[in-house]
Formats: sequence, C-alpha cells, structure tokens
Amino acid sequence: MKTSEIRQKFLSFFESKGHNVVPSSSLIPGNDPTLLFTNAGMVQFKDVFTGKEARSYQRAVSSQRCVRAGGKHNDLENVGYTARHHTFFEMLGNFSFGDYFKREAIYHAWELLTTVYNLPPEKLWVTVYQEDDEAYEIWQKEIKVPAERIVRIGDNKGARYASDNFWQMGDTGPCGPCSEIFYDHGPDVWGGPPGSPEEDGDRYIEVWNLVFMQFERDADGNMTPLPKPCVDTGMGLERIAAVLQHVHSNYEIDLFQALIKAAARETGTTDLGNNSLKVIADHIRACSFLIVDGVIPSNEGRGYVLRRIVRRALRHGHKLGQSGVFFHRLVADLVAQMGDAYPELATQQARVEQVLRQEEERFSETLENGMKILDGALASLPEGGVLDGQTLFTLYDTYGFPVDLTADICRERKVNVDLPGFEAAMNRQREQARAAGKFKAAEGLSYSGVETRFEGYEHLQAEGRVTALYLNGVSVDQVQAG
Ligand code: ATP
Ligand code: MG
Ligand code: MG
Ligand code: MG
Repeated sequence: MKTSEIRQKFLSFFESKGHNVVPSSSLIPGNDPTLLFTNAGMVQFKDVFTGKEARSYQRAVSSQRCVRAGGKHNDLENVGYTARHHTFFEMLGNFSFGDYFKREAIYHAWELLTTVYNLPPEKLWVTVYQEDDEAYEIWQKEIKVPAERIVRIGDNKGARYASDNFWQMGDTGPCGPCSEIFYDHGPDVWGGPPGSPEEDGDRYIEVWNLVFMQFERDADGNMTPLPKPCVDTGMGLERIAAVLQHVHSNYEIDLFQALIKAAARETGTTDLGNNSLKVIADHIRACSFLIVDGVIPSNEGRGYVLRRIVRRALRHGHKLGQSGVFFHRLVADLVAQMGDAYPELATQQARVEQVLRQEEERFSETLENGMKILDGALASLPEGGVLDGQTLFTLYDTYGFPVDLTADICRERKVNVDLPGFEAAMNRQREQARAAGKFKAAEGLSYSGVETRFEGYEHLQAEGRVTALYLNGVSVDQVQAG
C-alpha cells in the first residue's frame, strides 16, 4: 500500500464513522504564539478542546503536517540515528470534542489497524497509563489483547526515553492518560518492548498515541473531571507506512526511497544506504514545507531553525562530495511525491527553489573553508576529546556554522564540544564590540539577544543517540530559536 493510499484510507475510515475531514493547518500555529511549530494534529483544535472555540462538528479527522525541530518536541538530533524520527512528518489523527471517549477511540483504532490495514493482532502491543484500569480492561476484556502484551506505564518523570503516558496541554488545563499502540518489527531488529530499558531501539515502534482528555488541572495541581471528556489521537504516517510496506525503517518506504534516490542523483552517490542521504531526504521535506508556510532563513526564531536544517543538509551533501549547490533541485522530486496531497507545495515550487538556492549559495561559500578548519582541529583530537570553544566560535561567527551543526559533526567523530568555552568566546567578542561602541552590531550575532549563561551540557554517549546541549537550562535549539 502506497503512502498516499494509507493516508487516504485513514481519512475515509474515520469519515465513514461520522468524522469531519479537516485539512492540515499551517506549520506556523495561528492560535498559539508560544509554540514554535505545529507539532501534533491537535494543535489546530486546541481552543475547541478547552471550549473557547466552537465548531459545527464534534468529530474530526486530519492528516496534519508537523515539524519537531525545536521547542518542546525536538527530534532534529534523532534524524539519521533512529529509524522512526523525522524533523517533518505527517500525523494522522481522529478527534472527539466531547463526543465519544475511551471505548470508541480504542475500538476504532483496533478496527482500522486489524481490518482495514490488516495487521496481525499478535504483532501489536499496547500501553496504558498506570492507573487507567478502564483502558486496561477495554483492551484486555473487550478487544482481547493478551495481558502479556499490555504494559502499564507511569509518569516516568526523569526517565529520558520511556513513554510518559500522561498527557497535558500545559501546566494547567486539559490533561489525561494516554494509551499507545506499538508494532513489533520482529527479532531481526534490536530493541525491547515498551516500558523496558531497550524501548528506544527500532524493534518495537510506537505507531499510535490515543490521548484521553479527562481532567482539568488548576494552578494548585488539583484535577477535576472534565464535564465532556475529549479524544485526541496521533499516528505517524511514515511509521505506519513502514509497517504496511514490510520494511523496518521509515526511510525505506516508497516516498522516502524516491527522495533518497533523488538525493543520490544530485550528490553522485551510488550507495543508497548511505546515512547522509536519509538526512538530506528528511531535511528537504522540513525545509520546503517551512518555506511554503512562510518561514524564510534568518538569524533568529523560526527562521534560524530553518537555516540550521538547511545547513545540516548541505553539510551532509558536502560529506558526500557535493560542494556545489544541489539541495533546491530536490524540491521537484518532493513535489512529485507530495504535491497531490499538498497542492500548496506544488503551486509554490518555484519560490521554494529560489529561497533554498539563495540560502545554499550563501553557505556554500563558507562551508568548504569552515570544514577545513574543523577537520584540521578534529585531526588532532582523540575519540572522547573536546573541541575547544574558540574554534566553535570561529566556525559560528566567521563561517556560519550553527553550534548544533558543529556539535553534530563532532558527535559523528565521537568528540565533545566545549560550550562554556564557546560562550566565553562569544562574550569576549561582545565585550570588545561594546568597548568599540559597536554593541548593536555584535548583538545580531548572539542567540537572538538571549543572555547565554552556561549551565552545563549533557552528551549521552552511552547509546550514541541523543546529544542535548544546554544553555540557561534549555537546549541550545530553544535558546537559538528565541
Ligand atoms: P517517540 O516516543 O517515538 O519519540 P512520541 O511519543 O514523541 O514518539 P507522540 O508525541 O505521541 O510521539 O506523537 C504521536 C505519534 O506521532 C507517534 O506515535 C508517532 O507515530 C508519530 N511521531 C512522533 N514523533 C515523530 C517524528 N519525529 N517523526 C515521525 N513520526 C513521529
Ligand atoms: Mg518523541
Ligand atoms: Mg513515545
Ligand atoms: Mg507518544
């Protein structure tokens, strides 16, 4: 089943169950200035859930374009490292605004997976929130999922990878337990069942999250039952496509294979399994859709996230031996894959190409020289060594290497980065500029004017999966995103 068919079947299934088909909203949330990007299907319905906004329907279904590359959800560091994460992806979701609740949500999900998508039930695992006996009983007694494949999961506060299974919109407001559905890709793939320490492997993949909005939390933390509980669900289109196309990685689905081939063509790469091709294929989607939705590369906020993604893609092109411009030429291939589902992508193709081309030209002048500096510095460092702050700063300031880009290259070479040193170098530059009366000009080079006080950074090398860099207690991405 092609990705486009899978999307269509989801929408039609829920339409047949009385849901209103609602188009994807923009990646720039219109109703929440605190949110960097639309990162879930429920974002456009936030005010409907809280009752602030009324719609003519009580059930909705959508395929929502999402970006998780900054802010609360950030999967940028996972791209190229896991089989299931993208910066841009589509979230299929069905929603009930005070209409049906847990039982129907679970029945619908199971029916779709096992009868429309025809998945073997024995490959599916489910998780419920620790205290949610109601959901547990529905899964076990009514759906008849054997107890050994139902896992109770708590808040897991502090646990980095484990599922959380209690959802909240914010510190106050609607919240409630989740129930997630996982697919077992089989023993050939490394990983453990949900809730186990190996959950983050690629064997048991979370495909669908069912959120049961059941309580309202007040400022004192008291939870009162909502008069009309709601349902919000999200299933990653690329993940369910991997399952239905019998492949173990999102990057092996039809849509991604087409983009990977295009990236190989443009970079002259023969090995289609090369990891850099996956990253480029991922990034062309995020960059193109961000531009379609009005973001342009810049030095702060959303524009800086876009710039960082473009530069990462170009660096991977460079790694494959492509030092010229190439990235914008993939837009046509993306339009061929996704233009039908997203006509706005097709109509804006020329503009997207032009914005990307300009950004490529801008960076390709310094990329080559910056890489020479970095390669030179890395050549003298052993594995586990630390790249000094002055080099990080020079790359940032003179060559346009965002810190996370340099950190990503260092991660590949198993080298750490000295963020305090970077910050010190930045402050020195500011002081000098201030002394010279040029403070304003230098400010533009800083993280959107945010004071950068270093508080420590974590480099989780144990699994080689996540690099989190913290300044002022938030990840570098958040600081840079303003
Ligand atoms: P994971 O634990 O795998 O990071 P999640 O729990 O963060 O996923 P949710 O916030 O529950 O994800 O989002 C709902 C669904 O969206 C997930 O079950 C998954 O299918 C999909 N999804 C989430 N993040 C991504 C991503 N970065 N790329 C592709 N699909 C994603
Ligand atoms: Mg996640
Ligand atoms: Mg999860
Ligand atoms: Mg989840």
